Amino acid sequence: MRLEGKVAIITGSTSGIGLEIAKSYVKNGAYITICGTNEEKLKKAKEIITNEYNDAKVLSIKADVSNTDDVIKLFVETNKEYGRIDILINNAGIAPSKSLEEMTDEEFIKVLNINTVGTFKCTREAIKYMKENGGSIINTSSFVSLYGSPSQAAYSASKAAINGLTKSNAKELGKYKIRVNAVAPGVVMTEMVKDNCNPETINRLNMMTPLGRGAEPNDLVGLYVYLGSDESLFTTGTIINIDGGLVM
Ligand code: NAD
Repeated sequence: MRLEGKVAIITGSTSGIGLEIAKSYVKNGAYITICGTNEEKLKKAKEIITNEYNDAKVLSIKADVSNTDDVIKLFVETNKEYGRIDILINNAGIAPSKSLEEMTDEEFIKVLNINTVGTFKCTREAIKYMKENGGSIINTSSFVSLYGSPSQAAYSASKAAINGLTKSNAKELGKYKIRVNAVAPGVVMTEMVKDNCNPETINRLNMMTPLGRGAEPNDLVGLYVYLGSDESLFTTGTIINIDGGLVM
């Protein structure tokens, strides 16, 4: 199995892309920690995974990635349970749509705090556990980091910052054999899109996509498995589009 014996923390894994990554990591032999802010959703996500994979090793931890104490706890408890941490997937995110004129300071800062500062905090913590044996950090970016999107100023800025973090962190952490890469999905049919995008926007983006459709979370997981596995030991600092050709 491609992730046999590896321990992975996947943030934002109670639904959508993160939950699908969690399932594919278990399927490929990883021991995982799932995380989110909602206790009920965490419980349900763990049930979904263990119903599908009876012998799954899944630790679920309630943690807000924008809270430093929660992030420390996420890593300490994972290490206590499994004795190592090999992979961090910074996937937690929010994407509220709001016009520039209506957006408050607090709303803008909240998006940056969860999407970008949360990624920084988790990465800083991961270094402690990966510095001796190396590891893989995978950040979930977005096509809007390169493309922009109306009413998504905070979200686009937060994801463009993820690309900057990915490259700088790859340069800084290569000496520890810690690889840092980003995945930039196009439109993926999850709660986030259903809650924040109107159907016309989704149709327009699908028409602009050479492969003619939005993604399902399952379309992305192979890339996350590849980046977590030893197959990608010489890959770092890349931002890989996985968007049906929307951005090229
Ligand atoms: P989703 O809403 O289903 O999942 C988001 C996850 O993040 C949930 O598990 C949620 O509980 C968690 N989360 C939110 N705030 C958190 C916090 N403060 N601390 C910890 N966890 C928190 O949406 P999704 O589409 O699966 O999004 C996953 C990632 O993919 C996000 O980073 C998103 O920006 C990115 N992305 C999504 C799309 C898309 O079209 N759906 C496109 C590009 C990138």
